[in-house]
Amino acid sequence: MIHLHNISKRFGEGPNAVNALKNIELVVPAGRIFGVIGASGAGKSTLIRCVNLLETPSSGEVIVNGQNLLSLSRRELNQARQQIGMIFQHFNLLSNRTVAENIALPLQLRQVDKASIQQRVLELVNLVGLDGREQAYPAQLSGGQKQRVAIARALATNPKVLLCDEATSALDPATTKQILALLGEINQRLGITILLITHEMQVVKQICSDVAIIDGGELVESGRVGDIFAQPKTEQAKRFIAATQNDDIPQALQAELKPGGAALAVRLTFSGVAKDTEQLHQLAQHYQVGVRFYQSDLDYVDGACFGHLICALTGENAAQLLLALDGVKVEELGRV
Ligand code: ADP
Repeated sequence: MIHLHNISKRFGEGPNAVNALKNIELVVPAGRIFGVIGASGAGKSTLIRCVNLLETPSSGEVIVNGQNLLSLSRRELNQARQQIGMIFQHFNLLSNRTVAENIALPLQLRQVDKASIQQRVLELVNLVGLDGREQAYPAQLSGGQKQRVAIARALATNPKVLLCDEATSALDPATTKQILALLGEINQRLGITILLITHEMQVVKQICSDVAIIDGGELVESGRVGDIFAQPKTEQAKRFIAATQNDDIPQALQAELKPGGAALAVRLTFSGVAKDTEQLHQLAQHYQVGVRFYQSDLDYVDGACFGHLICALTGENAAQLLLALDGVKVEELGRV
């Protein structure tokens, strides 16, 4: 478990001082994947770096795995840090070391014997899906593979907590999905608590169970991801959620729009009330309405459906169908 208790962090003194974190209270229960989201400069990096004391808070308490880190001696802190792995946006691999040597580094620093290191490196290489690349150098790897090496290195000492500092921000969307899937698998298989920071709601949506939103160094909202998506309370939360949704009308539909067309084009927005689109299919059958789909941008968070569908409805009862849809926002886009 991670507990940041009343954490503040000030950089500098006097009129130029920056209050990067203001009275942050954050509890990350063991075994969760917890996301902290915020715009650039919000204080995310400072916050996550306070968890392993890469940054020392100006005030407050940092409690990880039951230990108050600020009360430990240097030696005790080094011990405690072995329980806290960390990965970074730019991977931070040593370029003159191979994959295997990068992963072995934390174990060599702990003077683990050679045979055990070799064994552990093989396990970790396998865990992150890099079998056969042990002797490659970082320059010979893709971004996703480099992050896999960094994950393996972070896990070498069997930490209970993994901190991810914008770990997918330098990766393309497909690679981001794969790395997030790997982090999800590690959380499930090894029971490791993951705290990640990101500026993308998409990342939170894919793997986090909980999310906290920070803005100007303050924690403005936090809760289960499904609840925040269904009922965002603050403007900041609404903005992050809106950024994950695509409001454009697809070109294929735009080209077909014509006054007096036989079908009614609509955007149906799902915001977590419905579980899926089954209701639409049932009503279409009941009212004998034809449905032609143009775009589907739906996500499922905590068993509820979010996002939108763009479709065209034909049949006399199209308006009745729309009235009968429960918990779905309807926007008419024109006729086709
Ligand atoms: P984020 O990760 O959300 O982009 P940061 O935690 O990096 O935000 O920064 C929060 C604020 O603290 C910013 O105003 C930034 O300029 C300031 N800051 C961060 N690190 C330092 C530092 N070492 N010295 C001075 N100011 C800093």
